[in-house]
Amino acid sequence: MVELLRRSWVEINLTQIQKNFKIYQANISPTASVMVVVKADAYGHGDVEVANALQELGVCSWAVSNFNEACKLRNAGISGEILILGYTPIENIDSLIENNITQAIISEEYAEAILKTGKKLKCQFAIDTGMNRIGLDADCPEKCIEKIESFSKILNLDGIFTHLCVADSSEKKFKDYTQTQIQKFEIIADGVKNLHLNNVHCLNSAGGLWHSTKYNSLVRLGIILYGLKPDYSNILPDGIKPALSWKSVVSMIKTVKKGEYIGYGCTFKADRDMLVATIPTGYADGYNRMLSNIGHVVINGKIAPIVGRVCMDQFMVDISEISNAKMGTEIELLSESYNADDMANDIGTIGYEIVCGISKRVPRVYTR
Ligand SMILES: *Cc1c(COP(=O)(O)O)cnc(C)c1O
Repeated sequence: MVELLRRSWVEINLTQIQKNFKIYQANISPTASVMVVVKADAYGHGDVEVANALQELGVCSWAVSNFNEACKLRNAGISGEILILGYTPIENIDSLIENNITQAIISEEYAEAILKTGKKLKCQFAIDTGMNRIGLDADCPEKCIEKIESFSKILNLDGIFTHLCVADSSEKKFKDYTQTQIQKFEIIADGVKNLHLNNVHCLNSAGGLWHSTKYNSLVRLGIILYGLKPDYSNILPDGIKPALSWKSVVSMIKTVKKGEYIGYGCTFKADRDMLVATIPTGYADGYNRMLSNIGHVVINGKIAPIVGRVCMDQFMVDISEISNAKMGTEIELLSESYNADDMANDIGTIGYEIVCGISKRVPRVYTR
């Protein structure tokens, strides 16, 4: 790597992503195939790089969040099916068809708007089974089935899907909720059986491992591909590990005397003489400001707690117990011992948000 990048950078191990994929596949229903979710730049890991690594393993089904993400994959030579899981403006329909991209139909109103264009768009109906985000309301199954059937005569309808919202929980009430969602979905799927849709799917990462359905031909694998947990309490299959580590360096070391303050807002006061290192990474890099006075980094295998507030481009850590650090010493912001799930747990969010939040100014370096 060129020295220029040695400020703050992310290393992504594509072999680990391939491993995670294989282990996940071995742990779901043997009849299921996997649709890989690479939305949000593959959860910050790099969509084209991740898709290329998985295309090598024969993956040919992808999901993204929007039109730009879908086109980026197509332009990079990713083949197979690409499903857009959310809203695409109607003006983009021609480009969707040109690029052979499948669009989720998020509502009846959206379906009507597509019909008005007179274009035969390849699409899949989203069904709302209890999340109240997008889709036809599964609580009115007859109406749902009737709508899907009538639109299937005009659109190029390729499937239906729903999304589970508590499949990662082991609590009984949430397991029951998920079962209810799956049952509601199956009623619709049974009702449109005569359409012989190619893709009838309802399981996300968590669902694929901990739930099942008679329509389990396709599982949408997101977070677990990247080695992170849907919920911090989850236990993942052996061998699935985070593929991403985030590194930075020590830019300066100084002593801070007892009674002095550190950082904006003077939120940290030294209760003793301390050795403090400055790290050239900040919230503009996606290093969450909520980590102020809470998080830590790892320097030479030892924990260095954050002292004071995280700034836009820098923050400070206590290295009083770490003697061998100097300017340029490589440090770990996210690593196997403190991964995105651990960091998220420290500040009350989820690993998804941590990895998606690593900003574009942080270079991604790929290893195998
Ligand atoms: C993001 C998303 C997924 C993947 O969810 P994970 O929890 O990351 O596995 C699957 N389906 C839909 C509709 C999604 O929006």
